[in-house]
Amino acid sequence: MKQSVEYNIIQDNMRPGAITRDGMLGHDRRNLRDIIEADDAEVHRLGLTHTSVAARMRDLRDAGREGLGETVTVLERFDVRVDSARGKLPCPFRHEGLFEKEFVEVLNRGNGARTTFTALNIHMIEGHGFYEGLGSPFRLDPARLARALGLFHET
Ligand SMILES: [Zn+2]
Repeated sequence: MKQSVEYNIIQDNMRPGAITRDGMLGHDRRNLRDIIEADDAEVHRLGLTHTSVAARMRDLRDAGREGLGETVTVLERFDVRVDSARGKLPCPFRHEGLFEKEFVEVLNRGNGARTTFTALNIHMIEGHGFYEGLGSPFRLDPARLARALGLFHET
């Protein structure tokens, strides 16, 4: 689908070296609008919303911070470790404000699923429904993410 000039500028901010070294698009050749639409459909298919996904990510991050770099167990079934790095990152969607360079590792002990995300990922999901492009190091496939976050029941 054709996208606006505004989206082209945002997509440029996601290329390697613009905001992050590896960029946020991986090997995905789709335009940004199509990436967002496909993940939006997937999140709805899972019976979730971007807000509910982001809320769980934020809850686990907030609880994990208590560990000051060590793993903490949250809600009796998540092992969470939060690592902070120096520096801050801007949102590629050109919002005001900067996001801590913070890496959150989650292991869902109930099903063995893992995920790793950043503070910027939480914001981009909540604010923009953006889970990064296919092949990006921080791509968060919605179904795999939801499984690691314990947001849907195993069948
Ligand atoms: Zn933003």
